[in-house]
Amino acid sequence: MVMGTRTISPAPVAVDSFIPRHIGPSAAEQQAMLAALGYDSLEAFIDAVVPESIRFRGTLNTGPERSEAEVLGSLKEMASRNAVYRSFIGMGYYGTHTPNVILRNVMENPAWYTAYTPYQAEIAQGRLEALLNYQTMVIDLTGLEIANASLLDEGTAAAEAMALCFGSRGSATRNVFLIGSDCHPQTIAVVEARASARGIVVQVGDPRTFAFDDTVFGALLQYPGTDGAVVDYRGLCETAHTAGALVTVASDLLALCLLAPPGEWGADIVVGNTQRFGVPMGYGGPHAAFFATRDEFKRLLPGRIIGLSRDTEGKPALRMALQTREQHIRREKATSNVCTAQVLLSVMAGMYAVYHGPAGLVQIAERVHRNAVTLAAGFERLGFAITHEHFFDTVRVEVGAHGQEDILAAATAHRMNLRVLEPGTITVALDETTTQQDIADLWTVFNNNATVDFSYAEVAAGVDARYDERFRRVSPFLTHPTFHRYHSETEMLRYMYALQARDFSLVHGMIPLGSCTMKLNATAEMIPVTWPEFGQLHPFAPTEQAQGYAQMFDELERDLADVTGFAGVSLQPNAGSQGEYAGLLVIRAYHQSRSDAHRTVCLIPQSAHGTNPASAVMAGFSVVVVKTDTDGNIDVDDLREKAEQHAANLGALMVTYPSTHGVFEARIKEITAIIHEHGGQVYMDGANMNAMVGVSRPGDLGADVCHLNLHKTFCIPHGGGGPGMGPIGVASQLVPFLPTHPVISTGGTHAIGPISAAPWGSASILPISYVYIKLMGGEGLATATKVAILNANYVAKQLEAHYPVLYRGQNGLVAHECILDTRGVKSASGVEAEDIAKRLMDYGFHAPTLSFPVAGTLMVEPTESESKAELDRFIEAMIGIREEIAAVERGESDRENNVLKRAPHTAAHVTSDEWDRPYTRQQAAYPTQFTRERKFWPYVGRVESAFGDRNLVCACPPIESYATS
Ligand SMILES: *Cc1c(COP(=O)(O)O)cnc(C)c1O
Repeated sequence: MVMGTRTISPAPVAVDSFIPRHIGPSAAEQQAMLAALGYDSLEAFIDAVVPESIRFRGTLNTGPERSEAEVLGSLKEMASRNAVYRSFIGMGYYGTHTPNVILRNVMENPAWYTAYTPYQAEIAQGRLEALLNYQTMVIDLTGLEIANASLLDEGTAAAEAMALCFGSRGSATRNVFLIGSDCHPQTIAVVEARASARGIVVQVGDPRTFAFDDTVFGALLQYPGTDGAVVDYRGLCETAHTAGALVTVASDLLALCLLAPPGEWGADIVVGNTQRFGVPMGYGGPHAAFFATRDEFKRLLPGRIIGLSRDTEGKPALRMALQTREQHIRREKATSNVCTAQVLLSVMAGMYAVYHGPAGLVQIAERVHRNAVTLAAGFERLGFAITHEHFFDTVRVEVGAHGQEDILAAATAHRMNLRVLEPGTITVALDETTTQQDIADLWTVFNNNATVDFSYAEVAAGVDARYDERFRRVSPFLTHPTFHRYHSETEMLRYMYALQARDFSLVHGMIPLGSCTMKLNATAEMIPVTWPEFGQLHPFAPTEQAQGYAQMFDELERDLADVTGFAGVSLQPNAGSQGEYAGLLVIRAYHQSRSDAHRTVCLIPQSAHGTNPASAVMAGFSVVVVKTDTDGNIDVDDLREKAEQHAANLGALMVTYPSTHGVFEARIKEITAIIHEHGGQVYMDGANMNAMVGVSRPGDLGADVCHLNLHKTFCIPHGGGGPGMGPIGVASQLVPFLPTHPVISTGGTHAIGPISAAPWGSASILPISYVYIKLMGGEGLATATKVAILNANYVAKQLEAHYPVLYRGQNGLVAHECILDTRGVKSASGVEAEDIAKRLMDYGFHAPTLSFPVAGTLMVEPTESESKAELDRFIEAMIGIREEIAAVERGESDRENNVLKRAPHTAAHVTSDEWDRPYTRQQAAYPTQFTRERKFWPYVGRVESAFGDRNLVCACPPIESYATS
């Protein structure tokens, strides 16, 4: 900066503008980068990158930019229109005390919430350990052998369970899935929607009447039931198994601290929600669903599994195991389409178990149960009949149709929400937060709003457990030392910080992941998430109590519709993969409504993300692959040929824009027109919207549906692999089919069934995207896009002399990301993309996306939030690495024993008394000046993948295994 003599700015400067906080490069830096690319203005540059035919020339209607103080002020006002009543609704969502040490140091801590999915295990050992704790907790509490590290919600976990049972059924003639009518209604509805797309027949009924004939491949039960009943299903499991069917049980981890776990009485799969382990209800999410099963199904298990492997020195190291099951590899044959899951929330739930330990959890569960039985005994004194003999936390009371109205009115007066199960029947679900005062108030509510003439202490003195010996849990759980060491807050704090220190996140440096948009997650955007007005609402609270949410949804839907150029939006899908599935179901429903049910062919380009084909199959489509030409674009001739060939049955095209190759394909409108001509609808994968917001709109390009990954483009943090949100926008003809919900009505007039357990998915993280949009305003959003494209082209330009840039669009420019082709160096030096990724850790970077969409390459997406200084540092690292490769090519470095092949280097490596490597310790650990100032140490050396899959351990290993290391 030139220092002048000016003492005051000549023009009023919006000093509190958020835009220059969000956008990394200053105006002067942007000019320098533009100059390096040969352009004199951002506008001229964008005109050169973005084909005129796809350009959006308007301004988004999302309003003017506003300051942090203004936006948070008005949002607070909106939030105040949410009324936080005491919730006794249950149905899978409960009040919980988030331990404050976890709230502040995990949930509100960017070192945890800005991390990426732990694909680079060496710099992710902290959250991998936290997830292993979570898996161990699930395995122990459910009594099963193997568990994953989270699914999206209980409803979809149950649907995944059905898919597993279907996938492993003995005979192709089995296509009936039985569901107990006492499952949560949202679970039943999500499973039914999933089933109908796959042609599976669902029969909902009383489990006592289940008929297991040879058409049935599985059954779903709830334990305890949605009305609180604890039923002995041992006999049912035996009958099912004899008949060749599998049994899934949806359950509740707190109940399983006291009750015999389903894994011990015959369940093959146990699913549920871990929300009540310290994660706020958040009006529906996010929280982590769990999924546990038997070892024999490990290759069919959906979601990520954390397993134990070792590094090159033999040190134990964690990693994501069995990745070959996932859609990235298996595509249309994948076991599930789930990609982004609920890592942050799994970490929280696991930490809750670590903090309380088994004794603490039992104490909490016993307190809840004691309150429930006391409540029930009081109801009995008042003359009410308690329906079930055996229950845990939910009391079902028969009040009669007449009594019901008075009770509900009294409850409302006390700001309490009860659940009417059916006319004349009310359930009251208690939780960790229930107090003796709550119990007394509930008695008042059920006593014509008059105080009762007995006290809590009096009633509680005479009660006993309300489940008998058959149901009592006798097996120990959480015996691993991790669940016994950290019960003081000091120990807990240090444990969480020890794990945190092993993980690279955005607090350390850029995470230049192509396709994943790891941009700024501003603090102002995060703050509202833990406001009680957003965090403490039950998803099925009466909508009058959620007027603040309603307004936020409304505005957000309008803004997202404007951004995408669509007529309607559904906020229900809670990940991109779920948006794909939802959008495709909407397309199917549209075809069905026009008597075109046979339109089930889905064209998908070769280069598509793995979730695309996996989602298409889930939605009942058959996948036809379209070729990619040598420039990385869709082969339009091949597309036309396949569209013609399948014209009679063409249902949809799934296309990512800009392409997964990071290019604005100029022929996109021609492509969408071909599909429409042949009767299909166009699904646009919006994962790359960070290249489009304010510059081009899917709706204008001929797309009919598009999902938005709000955890990419709209600033929801990645959370180490979730949460996320994947709302869809749709063109007008598809609006009637947007998804509904069985409890809270949403969606269109001919709505498809729900695709998430909650009506607005993970509602409590929507304020993040809302705040981002309001802070930036229409023009700010477009500027962010333009700078994202500028940053990517700057990196491409600076690196092109060192690594070929694989694909380019018009004028030799890329979109918001670029693919660096490292395949050439492999033949000359033996160095692979993976070696570069690992070596980048020594330089203080997270690797770019590895081998997607092209094997053996690196895809770099810098985002607009990275400053020029950070980009230059990355460029310096990549050039430094290229020189290290050149030394191998010249024969100066050994082909195997070199600084790349042996990367990353840990502190233990470089401080070891023995050093037998043909390069110096300094070269290994301090390749740049920056690393001397801010060194990030990988916690383990290169992790062995094959060993881990061969020796899968998915629970905390026994303590002896540490003794040997
Ligand atoms: C991230 C991504 C997805 C999947 O989104 P999730 O939110 O992880 O389910 C789909 N397609 C593309 C191109 C992506 O980059």
